[in-house]
Amino acid sequence: MIIYKFGGTSVGNADRMKQVANIIGDEKQKIIVLSAVGGTTNKLVRLTGFFYTQKHDEALEIINLLHDEYYGIIDNLLSTDNYRAQATLFIDGILELLLAQEGAEFNEKNEKIILAQGEIMSTTLFHFYLLETGANATLISALEYMRIDEDGEPDIEKIGNLLNPLLEQASDKHLIVTQGYICRNVQGEIDNLKRGGSDYSATLVGQAIKAEEVQIWTDIDGMHNNDPRVVENTYPVDYLSFDEAAELAYFGAKILHPASVLPAREAGIPVRLKNTFDPAAFGTLISASSEPDKVKAIAAKDGIIAINIISGRMLLAFGFLRRVFEVFEKHRTSIDMITTSEVAVTLTIDHTNHLKELIDELNTLGTVMVEDNMSIVAVVGNGAGGSSKVLSKITAGLNGYAVRMVSFGGSQNNISLLVPTADKIAVLKSLNNHIFD
Ligand code: ASP
Ligand code: MG
Repeated sequence: MIIYKFGGTSVGNADRMKQVANIIGDEKQKIIVLSAVGGTTNKLVRLTGFFYTQKHDEALEIINLLHDEYYGIIDNLLSTDNYRAQATLFIDGILELLLAQEGAEFNEKNEKIILAQGEIMSTTLFHFYLLETGANATLISALEYMRIDEDGEPDIEKIGNLLNPLLEQASDKHLIVTQGYICRNVQGEIDNLKRGGSDYSATLVGQAIKAEEVQIWTDIDGMHNNDPRVVENTYPVDYLSFDEAAELAYFGAKILHPASVLPAREAGIPVRLKNTFDPAAFGTLISASSEPDKVKAIAAKDGIIAINIISGRMLLAFGFLRRVFEVFEKHRTSIDMITTSEVAVTLTIDHTNHLKELIDELNTLGTVMVEDNMSIVAVVGNGAGGSSKVLSKITAGLNGYAVRMVSFGGSQNNISLLVPTADKIAVLKSLNNHIFD
């Protein structure tokens, strides 16, 4: 079975939903995982913000926006009185449910109920459309099978145990529609896989049912060799290994949720990135195989903070780095890059939730300096990560730019550089010229 996942722009309005139906066809059984209509989850996030701060009028404004948008979708998507009436009733019910969350005790549970409605709306309307066109379709709610554990991580065993019987019951259906992003937690409450999590849903479903392939349909023709938003003449990369794709997704290639590669890699299921607006384009195929010694792509991740710790005590001492790492462990902050010299170590982190506590405690180990507004630029390719040839091209490309750290040799897949975010675009362009020409 093939899993098809369509992102927010791919289901962004009625015409696009119809295009999705064209792409999937009605032959053979398949699972279709949908995101919310593009922009909806952001609106729902804003709505929860207004409920938290008890801004009733602003909240109503969002609900009115959603009302008009979804009434418009129904109008353009459905043509029979029967389905139009059902869809209108359904959307009215959702809007009422959103409003019903308002109150002085508005909390995280209400918030998560609200955030889940985007995917519930997109899948329900799309399912109505399929039925109206006579397709052999059904809707299976992700709330019935997608589960996270105490740590908020997917519980793959449970997911499989719940989903497989549901699929058996639906064995005569061809098109099985379900939601990305949403799930239930260990308390059985509505929860989610965090923003952008629909890709993750798709590969988790793939792993749970041992799918043949997972296709992630977005608005671009695959993973590009550099950031197409800032570098000219980028091109889609045809093939990536799971490791390369994971590094690129983690280091900023926006097309794929970083965690979504893991289930696919574990289950050995190829992931194909496809373009809804150009279905004939090859896209990118991510699989276990790799083409060695080739730089595949460059990606960048912003919002990086570098922490430099200088300590005379490090000189010829053992156990110093352990003490440094323990501080990060204690504050549940993961480290991305690290470089050391005999008396100093510099590390990078990508979130500031516990920055103050971290710094206070690191101060007991040495002199600490913090630099923010940094970006990690990652040059990715199996084998290229350990190649001095690639390193020398990078060095040539970096000539004249302020490079704060270089990480070479840690992974065969990746050479990472830390540069000021102000220089990032220039560095991406310069590396592009030196590496891909
Ligand atoms: N709708 C969710 C979001 O916007 C999940 C997703 O689209 O992947 O983050
Ligand atoms: Mg996405």
